[in-house]
Amino acid sequence: MRADSAAGGFRAALDSRTRRAIIYPKSAGGRHVGCEPAEVTVFGDHLNDLGLFVLAGRKVAVANAHERIAELADERTASNDEDGVARYINHVLAREPAAAAPKEETGLAIVKAGIDAGGTLVKIAYEENGGEIRYVKLASDPLEAAAAWIRSRMPEARLCMTGGRASRLLGLLERSAESVSEFEATCEGAKRLLEQDGKSWDRFLLANVGTGTSIHIVGGDGAARVGGTGVGGGTILGLARLLAGTADFESIVRAAQAGIRDTADLKVSHIYEGAIPPIDGNLTASNFGRVEETIRRSAGLGQSAEFPVEDVLASVIGMVGETVATVSVHAAGQHDAQVIVYIGSSFEWNEPLKEAVASYTRFRGAEPYFAPNGAFSGALGALLALVPEGKAT
Ligand code: ADP
Ligand code: MG
Repeated sequence: MRADSAAGGFRAALDSRTRRAIIYPKSAGGRHVGCEPAEVTVFGDHLNDLGLFVLAGRKVAVANAHERIAELADERTASNDEDGVARYINHVLAREPAAAAPKEETGLAIVKAGIDAGGTLVKIAYEENGGEIRYVKLASDPLEAAAAWIRSRMPEARLCMTGGRASRLLGLLERSAESVSEFEATCEGAKRLLEQDGKSWDRFLLANVGTGTSIHIVGGDGAARVGGTGVGGGTILGLARLLAGTADFESIVRAAQAGIRDTADLKVSHIYEGAIPPIDGNLTASNFGRVEETIRRSAGLGQSAEFPVEDVLASVIGMVGETVATVSVHAAGQHDAQVIVYIGSSFEWNEPLKEAVASYTRFRGAEPYFAPNGAFSGALGALLALVPEGKAT
């Protein structure tokens, strides 16, 4: 192990044999703290922080940072003098209560876990001895990092796996586990979450907006997949990378929140200008269909048109939300469901997406509902599917 960079209260080290990097607090006296560089957020202001900025998963520069550090940063916070680091941490803790409740706080052993290894994120629902169910999510890429986390945090736990990457993850874990189909786990988990939230619909449509979108009808007679679309959370990340140069989910959402959709999106009322439209004028007639008009309008004023990143991302999220809602509402109509329950990590802290989906669902006559902890439906369903202890063969 070669330490090659130290900054602030942290030390970054590169294992020259495996080429894997580890960052740990100096206060740990050189001990590793069991997390991967991709899981670590670092703060920097000057060139002595470059080493950390090369290695860490998320890089935050204070407002008065050196320009090289500012360039490399994923995000900015207030300056050193304005408690920028503390403000950022408070903001994250307020937003991520699930991630801020690690096992170490209770000291209890994790006895069982349901793991939903999806295309983008690995979601885990776990139970400590005598404790309540807790949730955590990790990146699916690299899957080795998720496997390392599971191995170190829950070495003895009984596991039930689901999701597209379940068998690859299990191969990396090198231990035995039960498994359940993704659709079954997702529907069962969602039903339990609704029960916990006091909702008791006999029949509802379940739209799981993950990397892509999968749609299910859930009723007294069971559950069945009834449709889907390739437009989902992965579309937000992919288009944001192509159009705005970032695939950092939180930065995308924050930017979109500050954006205006009218720059790129054409509403029905824009086409019917001055006349009474045959349908609600607020509906989108064409996602991104107003770009040429915006360019022409600006040229008419002797200006060049501007498409701020915030506006572009607001339109990307709007398009994904409206597509998902439209497909779901049609499926709900076909399958006689009034309520559409939306789940999936795409909605996590994503008010612009929720807003687009909720308003479009209502516009089109159905009732939207966002299940609390909906991102963990599959993981919870897998946890519930574990064969009761003593009955396992
Ligand atoms: P999957 O099961 O296919 O992995 P998820 O339900 O976990 O799908 O949703 C993945 C989507 O959630 C991403 O495409 C992205 O839009 C969004 N998302 C939410 N939080 C994150 C995050 N921390 N990192 C990446 N994507 C995130
Ligand atoms: Mg999934």
